[in-house]
Amino acid sequence: MKKIISWVLRNIPRPVLQLITPVVMFFVRIFYTGNKVECTVCSSTYSSFLPYGRLTPRQNALCPNCLSLERHRLIILYLKNKTDFFTPGKQVLHIAPEHCFLKSFEALHKDGYITGDLYSPLAKVKMDVHAIPFPDNKFDVVFCNHVLEHVTDDRLAVREIRRVLKPGGFAILQSPADYRVEKTYEDPSITDPLEREKAFGQNDHMRLFGRDYGQRLGESGLRIDQYEVAKELSKEQIERYRLDKGEILYCCVK
Ligand SMILES: [Zn+2]
Repeated sequence: MKKIISWVLRNIPRPVLQLITPVVMFFVRIFYTGNKVECTVCSSTYSSFLPYGRLTPRQNALCPNCLSLERHRLIILYLKNKTDFFTPGKQVLHIAPEHCFLKSFEALHKDGYITGDLYSPLAKVKMDVHAIPFPDNKFDVVFCNHVLEHVTDDRLAVREIRRVLKPGGFAILQSPADYRVEKTYEDPSITDPLEREKAFGQNDHMRLFGRDYGQRLGESGLRIDQYEVAKELSKEQIERYRLDKGEILYCCVK
């Protein structure tokens, strides 16, 4: 199963995957009935989650119902515990929208919920995060997860996100980071996909963020509040929701 998932993730384009996966999962779910793990996004319970990952798939990671991963389940917990995101009627910009959040966020915030992306078929507005096509101070919340490692200029993108946030609004800007290294590593001269995979961990990544990720986000003028899984949640919660205990969520407040 791990080998199949790794092959599929590396060889089938992401937009195609996003469209066909729900159909496949309908049949897979039958084999995972149980109550050992719980998804914070869709509230389903299973005997375990599915393995997921491009190079070496992680066991027990992907919700067979809504396709959430560890990071999505953490975001929902954070939003519930620490923010008023679930008060209806907010102005929300969701860049590179994750499939597992779409229906519930749209039902909650109705026309105030706007999705944007350069390529994704899931997004309503075709947009480049380096030049967000919205006025200053428009949004209460911006989500832009697993995008900043792909873009040409991540600092410009974060300044743009800050610009469109209302004063007091917040952004969730999660990216893969290697906390073993102190400084973010980037080298624009590396353009070959194989070389990029070696240097940055994936063939379409432009950089590998390090422990300075939060500080780098803060250069935009946003205030960065760190929510560390291991400090904020119990072992039982981490196991039941299958979170990454080393993950840090960066809430960026204007
Ligand atoms: Zn789920």
